[in-house]
Amino acid sequence: MSPAMPVTLNKTHPCFYAGAKGKYGRLHLPVAPSCNIQCAYCRRDHDCPNENRPGVTDGVIGPEEASERLERALERMPYISVAAVAGPGDAFCEPERTLKTFELIRRKNADIALCVSTNGLNVKDSIPHLCDLNVGYVTITVNAIDPGIAARLHPYITVDGITIRGLEAAHILISRQIEAIGRLKDAGITVKVNSVVVPGINEQHLLFLAKNMGTLNVDLMNFLPLIPLAGTDMADAVPPSEDRMKRLRQRASAYVRLMHHCTRCRSDAVGLLPQDRSSSSASYI
Ligand code: SF4
Ligand code: SF4
Repeated sequence: MSPAMPVTLNKTHPCFYAGAKGKYGRLHLPVAPSCNIQCAYCRRDHDCPNENRPGVTDGVIGPEEASERLERALERMPYISVAAVAGPGDAFCEPERTLKTFELIRRKNADIALCVSTNGLNVKDSIPHLCDLNVGYVTITVNAIDPGIAARLHPYITVDGITIRGLEAAHILISRQIEAIGRLKDAGITVKVNSVVVPGINEQHLLFLAKNMGTLNVDLMNFLPLIPLAGTDMADAVPPSEDRMKRLRQRASAYVRLMHHCTRCRSDAVGLLPQDRSSSSASYI
């Protein structure tokens, strides 16, 4: 393995730096088809709602197509500063697809910021490779650090082809997420933690979670209200109101910097943040 490249940040990531929103854009590359955990609010025929708005992405693409899509997008939208993998499944369930995508991009483009979102279960072994490729930003979704709460939100995980359920699964998921956050921070990577806010399950736990994420020096936290999805265990759940979300963000900001402008994009979104058009349906891309 070659020595890790220094991670360079120039504050042009429109999600991590609110000041960049409206000036710089992102391209989500939907190269991650599968997932290694089950979240109670997710339907796997939709985009991963841990980062995205649940919806059906226009199609999964391979690393070569992803790299070409970025080139075409940059010709039309030179203000795109970030290329990201954020679904439709988990970016490290099949890590070779995500890493190959970043490799192909880096061969042609030394400057663009690379960014990836994951549930954190399987990212650890890829961290040296992420450093080699100068991937500057990683988001991990952590919904709870209490195994009893996490087990209600993530009924099972899959590790090395084996399905693990209940509290044992929750313990493994939490410990891997926390270890990954520490290692990513040690590697100089900017880390965001996403948390889906589920009233009656983790809402009262989230200030404690934010305090712990602050202790781990997480750079940014992003609370996402549950979107109840038909066909899931949470189809009839009542999502938190805007007011409750606002109060939660205010209180948590005592411990960690909070994101207030997430537009919850598609896993194939392109353009400036308020825009959420699909890159595959944009005729010029
Ligand atoms: S990590 Fe994302 S894709 Fe996987 S089950 Fe959870 S919400 Fe769905
Ligand atoms: S989902 Fe949120 S964090 Fe991700 S690209 Fe969109 S605005 Fe940024």
